[in-house]
Amino acid sequence: MNNNDLHENIREQSYDPNAVGRVRYDKATGKFRFTTEPPAVGSSEVIHEAAQEGFAAEANPSGLPTLEQLYGRGCVFEKDNLRNKCVAFLALGSVGAALTEKFAREGLGRFILVDYDRVEPHNLSRHLAGIEDIGRLKTDVVEDAILRKNPLAQIEKYPVNILDNHNLIAEIIAKADLVFCAPDNTDCRYVVASLAEKAEKTVIYGWATTRAEGVDVFIQRPGEACYGCVAAAGLITKEEITNEASARESGVIPAYTSAADADAIVQVGLPSDIDPMINLMVKLGLTELTRGEEDSGIEGLGEELRADNFFIWANRRTQHYLGYSPFTAPQDGPTILRWYGCTIPRIPTCGLCAEIHR
Ligand SMILES: [Zn+2]
Repeated sequence: MNNNDLHENIREQSYDPNAVGRVRYDKATGKFRFTTEPPAVGSSEVIHEAAQEGFAAEANPSGLPTLEQLYGRGCVFEKDNLRNKCVAFLALGSVGAALTEKFAREGLGRFILVDYDRVEPHNLSRHLAGIEDIGRLKTDVVEDAILRKNPLAQIEKYPVNILDNHNLIAEIIAKADLVFCAPDNTDCRYVVASLAEKAEKTVIYGWATTRAEGVDVFIQRPGEACYGCVAAAGLITKEEITNEASARESGVIPAYTSAADADAIVQVGLPSDIDPMINLMVKLGLTELTRGEEDSGIEGLGEELRADNFFIWANRRTQHYLGYSPFTAPQDGPTILRWYGCTIPRIPTCGLCAEIHR
């Protein structure tokens, strides 16, 4: 079975976002099949049930940690300042999914997960999903990953397309303390930027340039520059294309492009190339969520990070970053493997925020 057959096979059987169950590989037929077999030990359903039992009963028959063991002094989540915070993760690709898992480890209590996509074989190298997750909804895979770290986390899942569900996304943004937006297309970012601007909520975006030679992180704070301002400043160019279907949908790959040509346009960077972006997004998120707290564990960092709103990281001195100084002979202009921050101002002619406030 070649890769295309494999994708077709998975899509055919599992594209219904409302289907309950998962897709498993059947060795006998060499095909993927949809199954509603009971969840395996270690899956979110089993962990959730066991956790409810364990936390309700003193005897804790589940063997899982108790509330006190999770959140008490010197315990798993010693700092429980994120326990009552709610964060929305809009798109659960390699960046969005990794962010949820990091925040589960930081002790975040409430997660809202939005992504209509399922795991495909080409996702595995960069995504937290494993081989056994192929065909599963990313919302389900990520839920499992969160509950493995914190079985008490509250999780809302929406396997829907951001572009088709503006009202729902507006409701989600309204109830979140913070929004992460890491989809693989710019249209979704415009939708989220516009809804967050109206709701006066903070959004943190991250994206990679071609072949992940570099990454950009942008934070849209209420009253400051929005994603539209970044675009108007000409800072969104040469974006990495990781998904043919979504690139065709947004017009980045024109409809007349053949499958072979499209294949050459889709270029994915190394897993390690996106790690710096994930790390900075987590730090920015923590500073926003713990603002004003004296004992947050990251005191002082907020001031540093709040001085800027746009951050650039180059992985290699190629293409856009050819002009960068060598890493080993620095101090003269930007080099690879270091963060550079700058401040994008509000642009009075921005088609997004200026329009909204007119
Ligand atoms: Zn703007």
